[in-house]
Amino acid sequence: MAPSALAPVVDNYVSYDHGASKSKQLIGEALKARVEAIDHDACSVGEEDPFFVADLGEVYRQHLRWKKNLGRVKPHYAVKCNPDPQVLRLLAELGVGFDCASKTEIETVLKMGVDPSRIIYAQPCKTKSYVRYAAQSHVKQMTFDNADELYKTKQLFPEAELYLRILTDDSASLCRLSQKFGASLDTTAELLELAKKLELNVVGVAFHVGSGASDPKAFVKAVQDARFVFDQAAALGFEMHTLDVGGGFTGDETFEPMAAVLSASLDAYFPPSIRIIAEPGRYYVSTAFTIACHVIARRIVNDATLGTTSYMLYLNDGVYGNFSSIIFDHQHPVPRLLKCGNEVMYDVRRSGYDTPSGIEYSLWGPTCDGIDVIAQSCNFPQVIDVGDWLYFEDMGAYTKCSATRFNGFTDSHDVVYVCSEPGAAALLGM
Ligand SMILES: *Cc1c(COP(=O)(O)O)cnc(C)c1O
Repeated sequence: MAPSALAPVVDNYVSYDHGASKSKQLIGEALKARVEAIDHDACSVGEEDPFFVADLGEVYRQHLRWKKNLGRVKPHYAVKCNPDPQVLRLLAELGVGFDCASKTEIETVLKMGVDPSRIIYAQPCKTKSYVRYAAQSHVKQMTFDNADELYKTKQLFPEAELYLRILTDDSASLCRLSQKFGASLDTTAELLELAKKLELNVVGVAFHVGSGASDPKAFVKAVQDARFVFDQAAALGFEMHTLDVGGGFTGDETFEPMAAVLSASLDAYFPPSIRIIAEPGRYYVSTAFTIACHVIARRIVNDATLGTTSYMLYLNDGVYGNFSSIIFDHQHPVPRLLKCGNEVMYDVRRSGYDTPSGIEYSLWGPTCDGIDVIAQSCNFPQVIDVGDWLYFEDMGAYTKCSATRFNGFTDSHDVVYVCSEPGAAALLGM
């Protein structure tokens, strides 16, 4: 073997713990194999489309991490975040429950053989025909936050197991939800009284502190507020048995401290007899998906006054496609170089990590809309040209699920699956 293959330049590589380093290796191999097989001068339409590589082992590791840090809380994966069939299958095998918000999401999960008792229809403002579908399918758990929804439930599904969704302080989250959903604490007594009058079955309280929550205090306050509503309900004769702490969890290093604060407040306010569930979405999938796309066109911009040259690169994916997360989820995906000329590289520092002195690029999507920009400015030491490939990590949450076909570009979300955890591979028969 050539020495360079045995002893890579140390500075070019980042070190990881075992599962994660296996993950990097498998993702890198899958990315390289795919782009090396594409000949831009001869391929058919579609062969050079963007594609994802998903490491299902990463989803599995996130599940173990959840169990270790939030042992008391039973997760119900929020399907909207990424309804990838293999992800759903793995989570179903792991015994995770599901948070669904539409007929299609409920149907998808039921078709995998998941028992309806593992599903919560966590949408406080529901379509009538969907409620009938939930009733027929025995999906009993659902949330509400207003009086009209109670009348609707009385009419369509009086046996439903209802969770009163309360308002939270979501000011420190990435995507705020409290403008749209949640009953304020000065309305909960009235709602519970109405539910009592209608002889409906209110079994618990639900909240959501906002997606991408960054302040553990939001969870503590919400748990305290939920306790207040549990006590209100008890005074009215309801026997609430479940608290739903919603989603909002991030998969980064803030998860452990967040989980510790949440666990402590749950134990402080809710005895072990109360069942605790959650609805994590991005936590499970964000880091599991990497996307690769290529440069379809380039414009060279010379600034005569400054004497500088910068490049505008047009990629075959953008904000109307899998980068919809830039608009809807306030993300800033980081470009890395995958193929430059004949050189294929992965996970090397000089592919866009820290090269402030490099050449400046802006990255644009393929549509004709000016809003379709992925990055206004990034730097690479190399000259990047048409046919070169870039990749972006952490593209699992709120990406392909909200892609469109605007301007006739594909919303194809081709996924190459790898699995860095033998435990997950065994469950999936991979
Ligand atoms: C979107 C959503 C979730 C998932 O949120 P994440 O921030 O991705 O964890 C959970 N519950 C409800 C009701 C939601 O609308």
